[in-house]
Amino acid sequence: MSRHRLPVAAYVDGVLGGDRAILARAITLVESQRNEDAEPAAALLDAILPHAGRSMRVGITGVPGVGKSTFIDALGMHLLRDRGERVAVLSVDPSSPLSGGSILGDKTRMERLSLEDGAYIRPSPARGVLGGVAPRTRETILLCEAAGFGTILVETVGVGQSETAVRSMTDFFLLLLLPGAGDELQGIKRGIIEMVDAIAINKADGEMLARATRAGHEYRAALHLFPAPADGWLPPVVTCSALTQDGIPAIWDTVLAHRAHMEAGGHVAVVRRRQALAWMHELVTSGLEAALRADPAVAEALPALEAAVGEGRTSAFAAAREILARFRRSTFPPHVDEALL
Ligand code: GDP
Repeated sequence: MSRHRLPVAAYVDGVLGGDRAILARAITLVESQRNEDAEPAAALLDAILPHAGRSMRVGITGVPGVGKSTFIDALGMHLLRDRGERVAVLSVDPSSPLSGGSILGDKTRMERLSLEDGAYIRPSPARGVLGGVAPRTRETILLCEAAGFGTILVETVGVGQSETAVRSMTDFFLLLLLPGAGDELQGIKRGIIEMVDAIAINKADGEMLARATRAGHEYRAALHLFPAPADGWLPPVVTCSALTQDGIPAIWDTVLAHRAHMEAGGHVAVVRRRQALAWMHELVTSGLEAALRADPAVAEALPALEAAVGEGRTSAFAAAREILARFRRSTFPPHVDEALL
């Protein structure tokens, strides 16, 4: 990557000019974990920042098979064709960096949208394969916004921390559900209901239409049992079909209604502030983690400590303490070291 790195100004011009090939390379630069890429990446982000921030950021989640890619394809085509929007699609894959596997990235997705000039679909980085690639979704959102994409759709799967992460970087969070009945309702995590701005029951077509309609009533009734949200927005429950496109335009109307509601109530600034704070904490955490991994004193001790914990000779607690102590000793001056230990 860095061997072919362009001058920062070329990235900036390309991104601001809406050049998708340069945008892709700019995202790769920002995702790079090479030390020599850190400074140009930061310079690039600084330069594009004034041009970012003016998009609709929508998070979309749901179990595998619920129809996320079909839905995003349909919604994206609607936005492009009927509303004259340019659409970027990003995904936050919950697969662990250790397994290197990917839930979202492995199949051909969004077949129509991927052929459109007005759309940009960023594949999930193949972690572990290229080595030194970290997904930087927030930064990628900013780059896409600076490249003129007015709608950013961020897709994720309901696993681990990925939903919380996507919620914290988007303005509207949509949960896609299958047309199941009450039993499915039981399985919905309370936490996710509190995060969503709308629920769409997908596959409301053909034989499943009646079931989807009934499920809609049940979810609506169930949502009334949750405490009223502080911003006064009651998440609507709608039905749609990504296959026939029924209900897709109405979902976008809901996104717009939500934006209007938030603006009228003065909540937008609060949301953006919350996003910025979450981002700051995330950067601190990932920066610390990168520093920890790059620390020679830690790297030297790690294999033996991992083996000792794996074989039950050392407790995880003691080993973690040892790793952190080594990190502190090599990072901070001695007097800090003493205070912290
Ligand atoms: P994802 O794993 O959530 O991305 O789900 P996909 O978009 O890959 O869809 C999973 C399957 O459901 C595919 O076979 C789709 O054709 C099908 N599917 C998606 N949306 C709909 C829909 O609205 N109606 C029907 N009947 N099938 C759908």
